[in-house]
Amino acid sequence: PVVTRFAPSPTGYLHIGGGRTALFNWLYARGRGGKFLLRIEDTDRERSTPEATAAILRGLTWLGLDWDGDVVSQFERKDRHAEVAHEMLARGTAYKCFSTQEEIAAFRAEAEARGSYAVFQSPWRDADPATHPDAPYVIRMRAPRSGETVIEDQVQGRVVIQNATLDDMICLRSDATPTYMLAVVVDDHDMGVTHVIRGDDHLNNAARQQMIYDAMGWKIPVWAHIPLIHGPDGKKLSKRHGALGVEEYQAMGYPAAGMRNYLTRLGWAHGDAEFFTSAQAKDWFDLKGIGRAPARLDFKKLENLCGQHIAAGDDAALLHELEAFLAVTGAPALTEAQRGLMLAGMPSLKDRAKTFPELIEKARYILTSRPILRDEAAEKALDAVSRGILQSLTPQLRNASWTKEDLEAILTGAAADAGIGFGKLAAPLRAALAGRTVSPSVYDMMLVIGQDETIARLEEAAA
Ligand code: GLU
Repeated sequence: PVVTRFAPSPTGYLHIGGGRTALFNWLYARGRGGKFLLRIEDTDRERSTPEATAAILRGLTWLGLDWDGDVVSQFERKDRHAEVAHEMLARGTAYKCFSTQEEIAAFRAEAEARGSYAVFQSPWRDADPATHPDAPYVIRMRAPRSGETVIEDQVQGRVVIQNATLDDMICLRSDATPTYMLAVVVDDHDMGVTHVIRGDDHLNNAARQQMIYDAMGWKIPVWAHIPLIHGPDGKKLSKRHGALGVEEYQAMGYPAAGMRNYLTRLGWAHGDAEFFTSAQAKDWFDLKGIGRAPARLDFKKLENLCGQHIAAGDDAALLHELEAFLAVTGAPALTEAQRGLMLAGMPSLKDRAKTFPELIEKARYILTSRPILRDEAAEKALDAVSRGILQSLTPQLRNASWTKEDLEAILTGAAADAGIGFGKLAAPLRAALAGRTVSPSVYDMMLVIGQDETIARLEEAAA
């Protein structure tokens, strides 16, 4: 069975690059009946904060990336890491090194003076344990000094590293804390991780980690190192390109399904499919479709996909997500009456809205109440002639049966009587109903807010 994992370091927020890495792992596992695990790499006690962990969990939850089992804390597993380092000692694949910082610095200085770059070679590698001093030591991996380590990467292909370029890395520090390299391997092994899908900034680590797998006789996972995300200009992603935090996108009102679709397409392709559901993404996602070139952020595409997901969304689910968005932004919650109207209006509201703020702007006619605040264009549309027409409409509207056909007959009739096109009548109607000249269709608005409210707003505008 497939087991993947996302292993963020909790030092900030959930970066969109991290969100995408998590998503790829989630898709790979979920599409194969596997497990997706979450491990917080919190061994750096100074930089790791509980707030950062909470932010990462919130970001993943918003994206809909549920994980299996409990969240694993890497720090809490430090005794197990130490145990494995000692097991390596017992196997002879690691050794105690008593070299001091000064000795290591002197070794390097000497190598540099000779004009050569040499990786540190500890004199303790082959020392007789009987000669070991009673002094602090680190546990170093007894790395092969010749030959090569080959990484068979599902994205990068075959990557060959000359062993001579790698030192006998430290696995356990003198204070018995594990290095990152050891902790990752022990955790991935113990958690049963079969596929490591992560950013290609970790590709070099893979060679060293593979040596630890070999040293323990453990099965090496399938590696897939994905290219990092770049800005629209092809440069390394940075703040000046735009929002980097997953939660920032939530706060801007992008729907999670659209964001998920967009992040899935960021560096992965399935033919020329752009819009797809989560179910399709789970079915289609594979490692073969991951590109070797860095993907570029494309905000137009993000908006486009988000618009399509809102338009295709289930009305009740959209309302639910919109309410969550309001809560995140600190806006007041909808009243029960507003919720009902929003649900009734959703079929037209969700059409052509790329974000929740755009949808909310369209829903203005529902979310504001009398007196309707009007913008300049709306004020202008309500000139004396238009007010007269609105006034003359109210008796007919009072007798209307409030179906679309009936309203259409009344409004087109009124426009004809006044000798104006329907467009000329629509502007003051929109102004009266929504306080804007841009809004959903007048029929949609009238049908949603109902007869009494429509008439009251027309009378208010006509007065
Ligand atoms: N904690 C590492 C990071 O946040 C990821 C380690 C891994 O995926 O192996 O970059």
